[in-house]
Amino acid sequence: MRFPLRMTVDLAKYIGGKRLRGIERFPLVMMLEPLHACNLTCTGCGRIREYKSTIKDKLTVEQCLAAVDECGAPIVSICGGEPMIYPDLPRLVREILGRKKHIYLCTNGMFIRKKLKDYQPTSRFFFNVHLDGMEETHDLCVERKGVFREAIEGIKAAKDAGFLVCTNTTIFKQTNLNEIAELLDYLHTLGVDGHMISPAYSYAAVQTREIFMSREEVREKFRSATQFLSRHNLMTSPIYLEYLRGDRELMCTAWGNPTYNPRGWKSPCYLITDGHYPTFKEFMESTPWEKYGRGRDPRCEHCMVHAGYEPSAVLGANRKLGDSWKMLKWNLTSPQASPLSSSLNSLL
Ligand code: SF4
Repeated sequence: MRFPLRMTVDLAKYIGGKRLRGIERFPLVMMLEPLHACNLTCTGCGRIREYKSTIKDKLTVEQCLAAVDECGAPIVSICGGEPMIYPDLPRLVREILGRKKHIYLCTNGMFIRKKLKDYQPTSRFFFNVHLDGMEETHDLCVERKGVFREAIEGIKAAKDAGFLVCTNTTIFKQTNLNEIAELLDYLHTLGVDGHMISPAYSYAAVQTREIFMSREEVREKFRSATQFLSRHNLMTSPIYLEYLRGDRELMCTAWGNPTYNPRGWKSPCYLITDGHYPTFKEFMESTPWEKYGRGRDPRCEHCMVHAGYEPSAVLGANRKLGDSWKMLKWNLTSPQASPLSSSLNSLL
């Protein structure tokens, strides 16, 4: 199994309920950014650049919870900035879990060891640790030595304490796929439960343009990665992977992954900022969705970002017959290497 059973069941019930009520556009994963401050300055990160003037701003826990409640997505991805420097994070996590949501806590891993005691392991909560390569490469990407080692120590401590842990890796133009294969093999020896993989995406705020790939380059990279990726417990859906390899087209469904931060609901997506709305309702109703996507907005031309296309497997208008079966089969089966079942057994 790729995901905890409770998450799969909750997601299926939520999607079924929306469909029964004839709702076509709805969120699946809310990206909650309680702050944009970070202890690192990663080369590919747009947040610390785009939100430079409000980098010290923070949402209150109450603002975060009101947004979680209004949005209603069953999964909340807490990101930033570095969320583990948000002072009220333990309370925020407890409150969101109390609402029976599922959480991915996206972190650079530098504070896991120090702050682990503030959290309780549960099948609703993943530490999602950012790793873009082995030690030398990752430290270069995050522009600081020692980050890889501390993140690995954090992963080991979290696994020893019984937490679910996954990793997220961004593939850049210069990424050596053999090194990513080595990384995933290594993470398996640490008992990591799953991996998210996504191509790098070019934020307007990021000036280092040469690290990003064109659509064709993304496809070439992911075609050559197919074999080793299939050996691992990827949390990236098979339909999104088909899109990344160029085997099918998908329509952007950015509303499936809405982002809320100290300025409001970021419209239209994780990448482009054409405005912020104070409420989720206004974000959904006032964003001119028909104007975005490939062929409609030049900024979308090379975008294959997970936040725009991962939900398309479930929400997209161009779903195919058999997609649901494919997703179910993928979810229920995992490569031999997957340690998730044993992690979950210890949480039950
Ligand atoms: S295609 Fe990409 S950049 Fe354009 S709206 Fe969708 S997610 Fe945003």
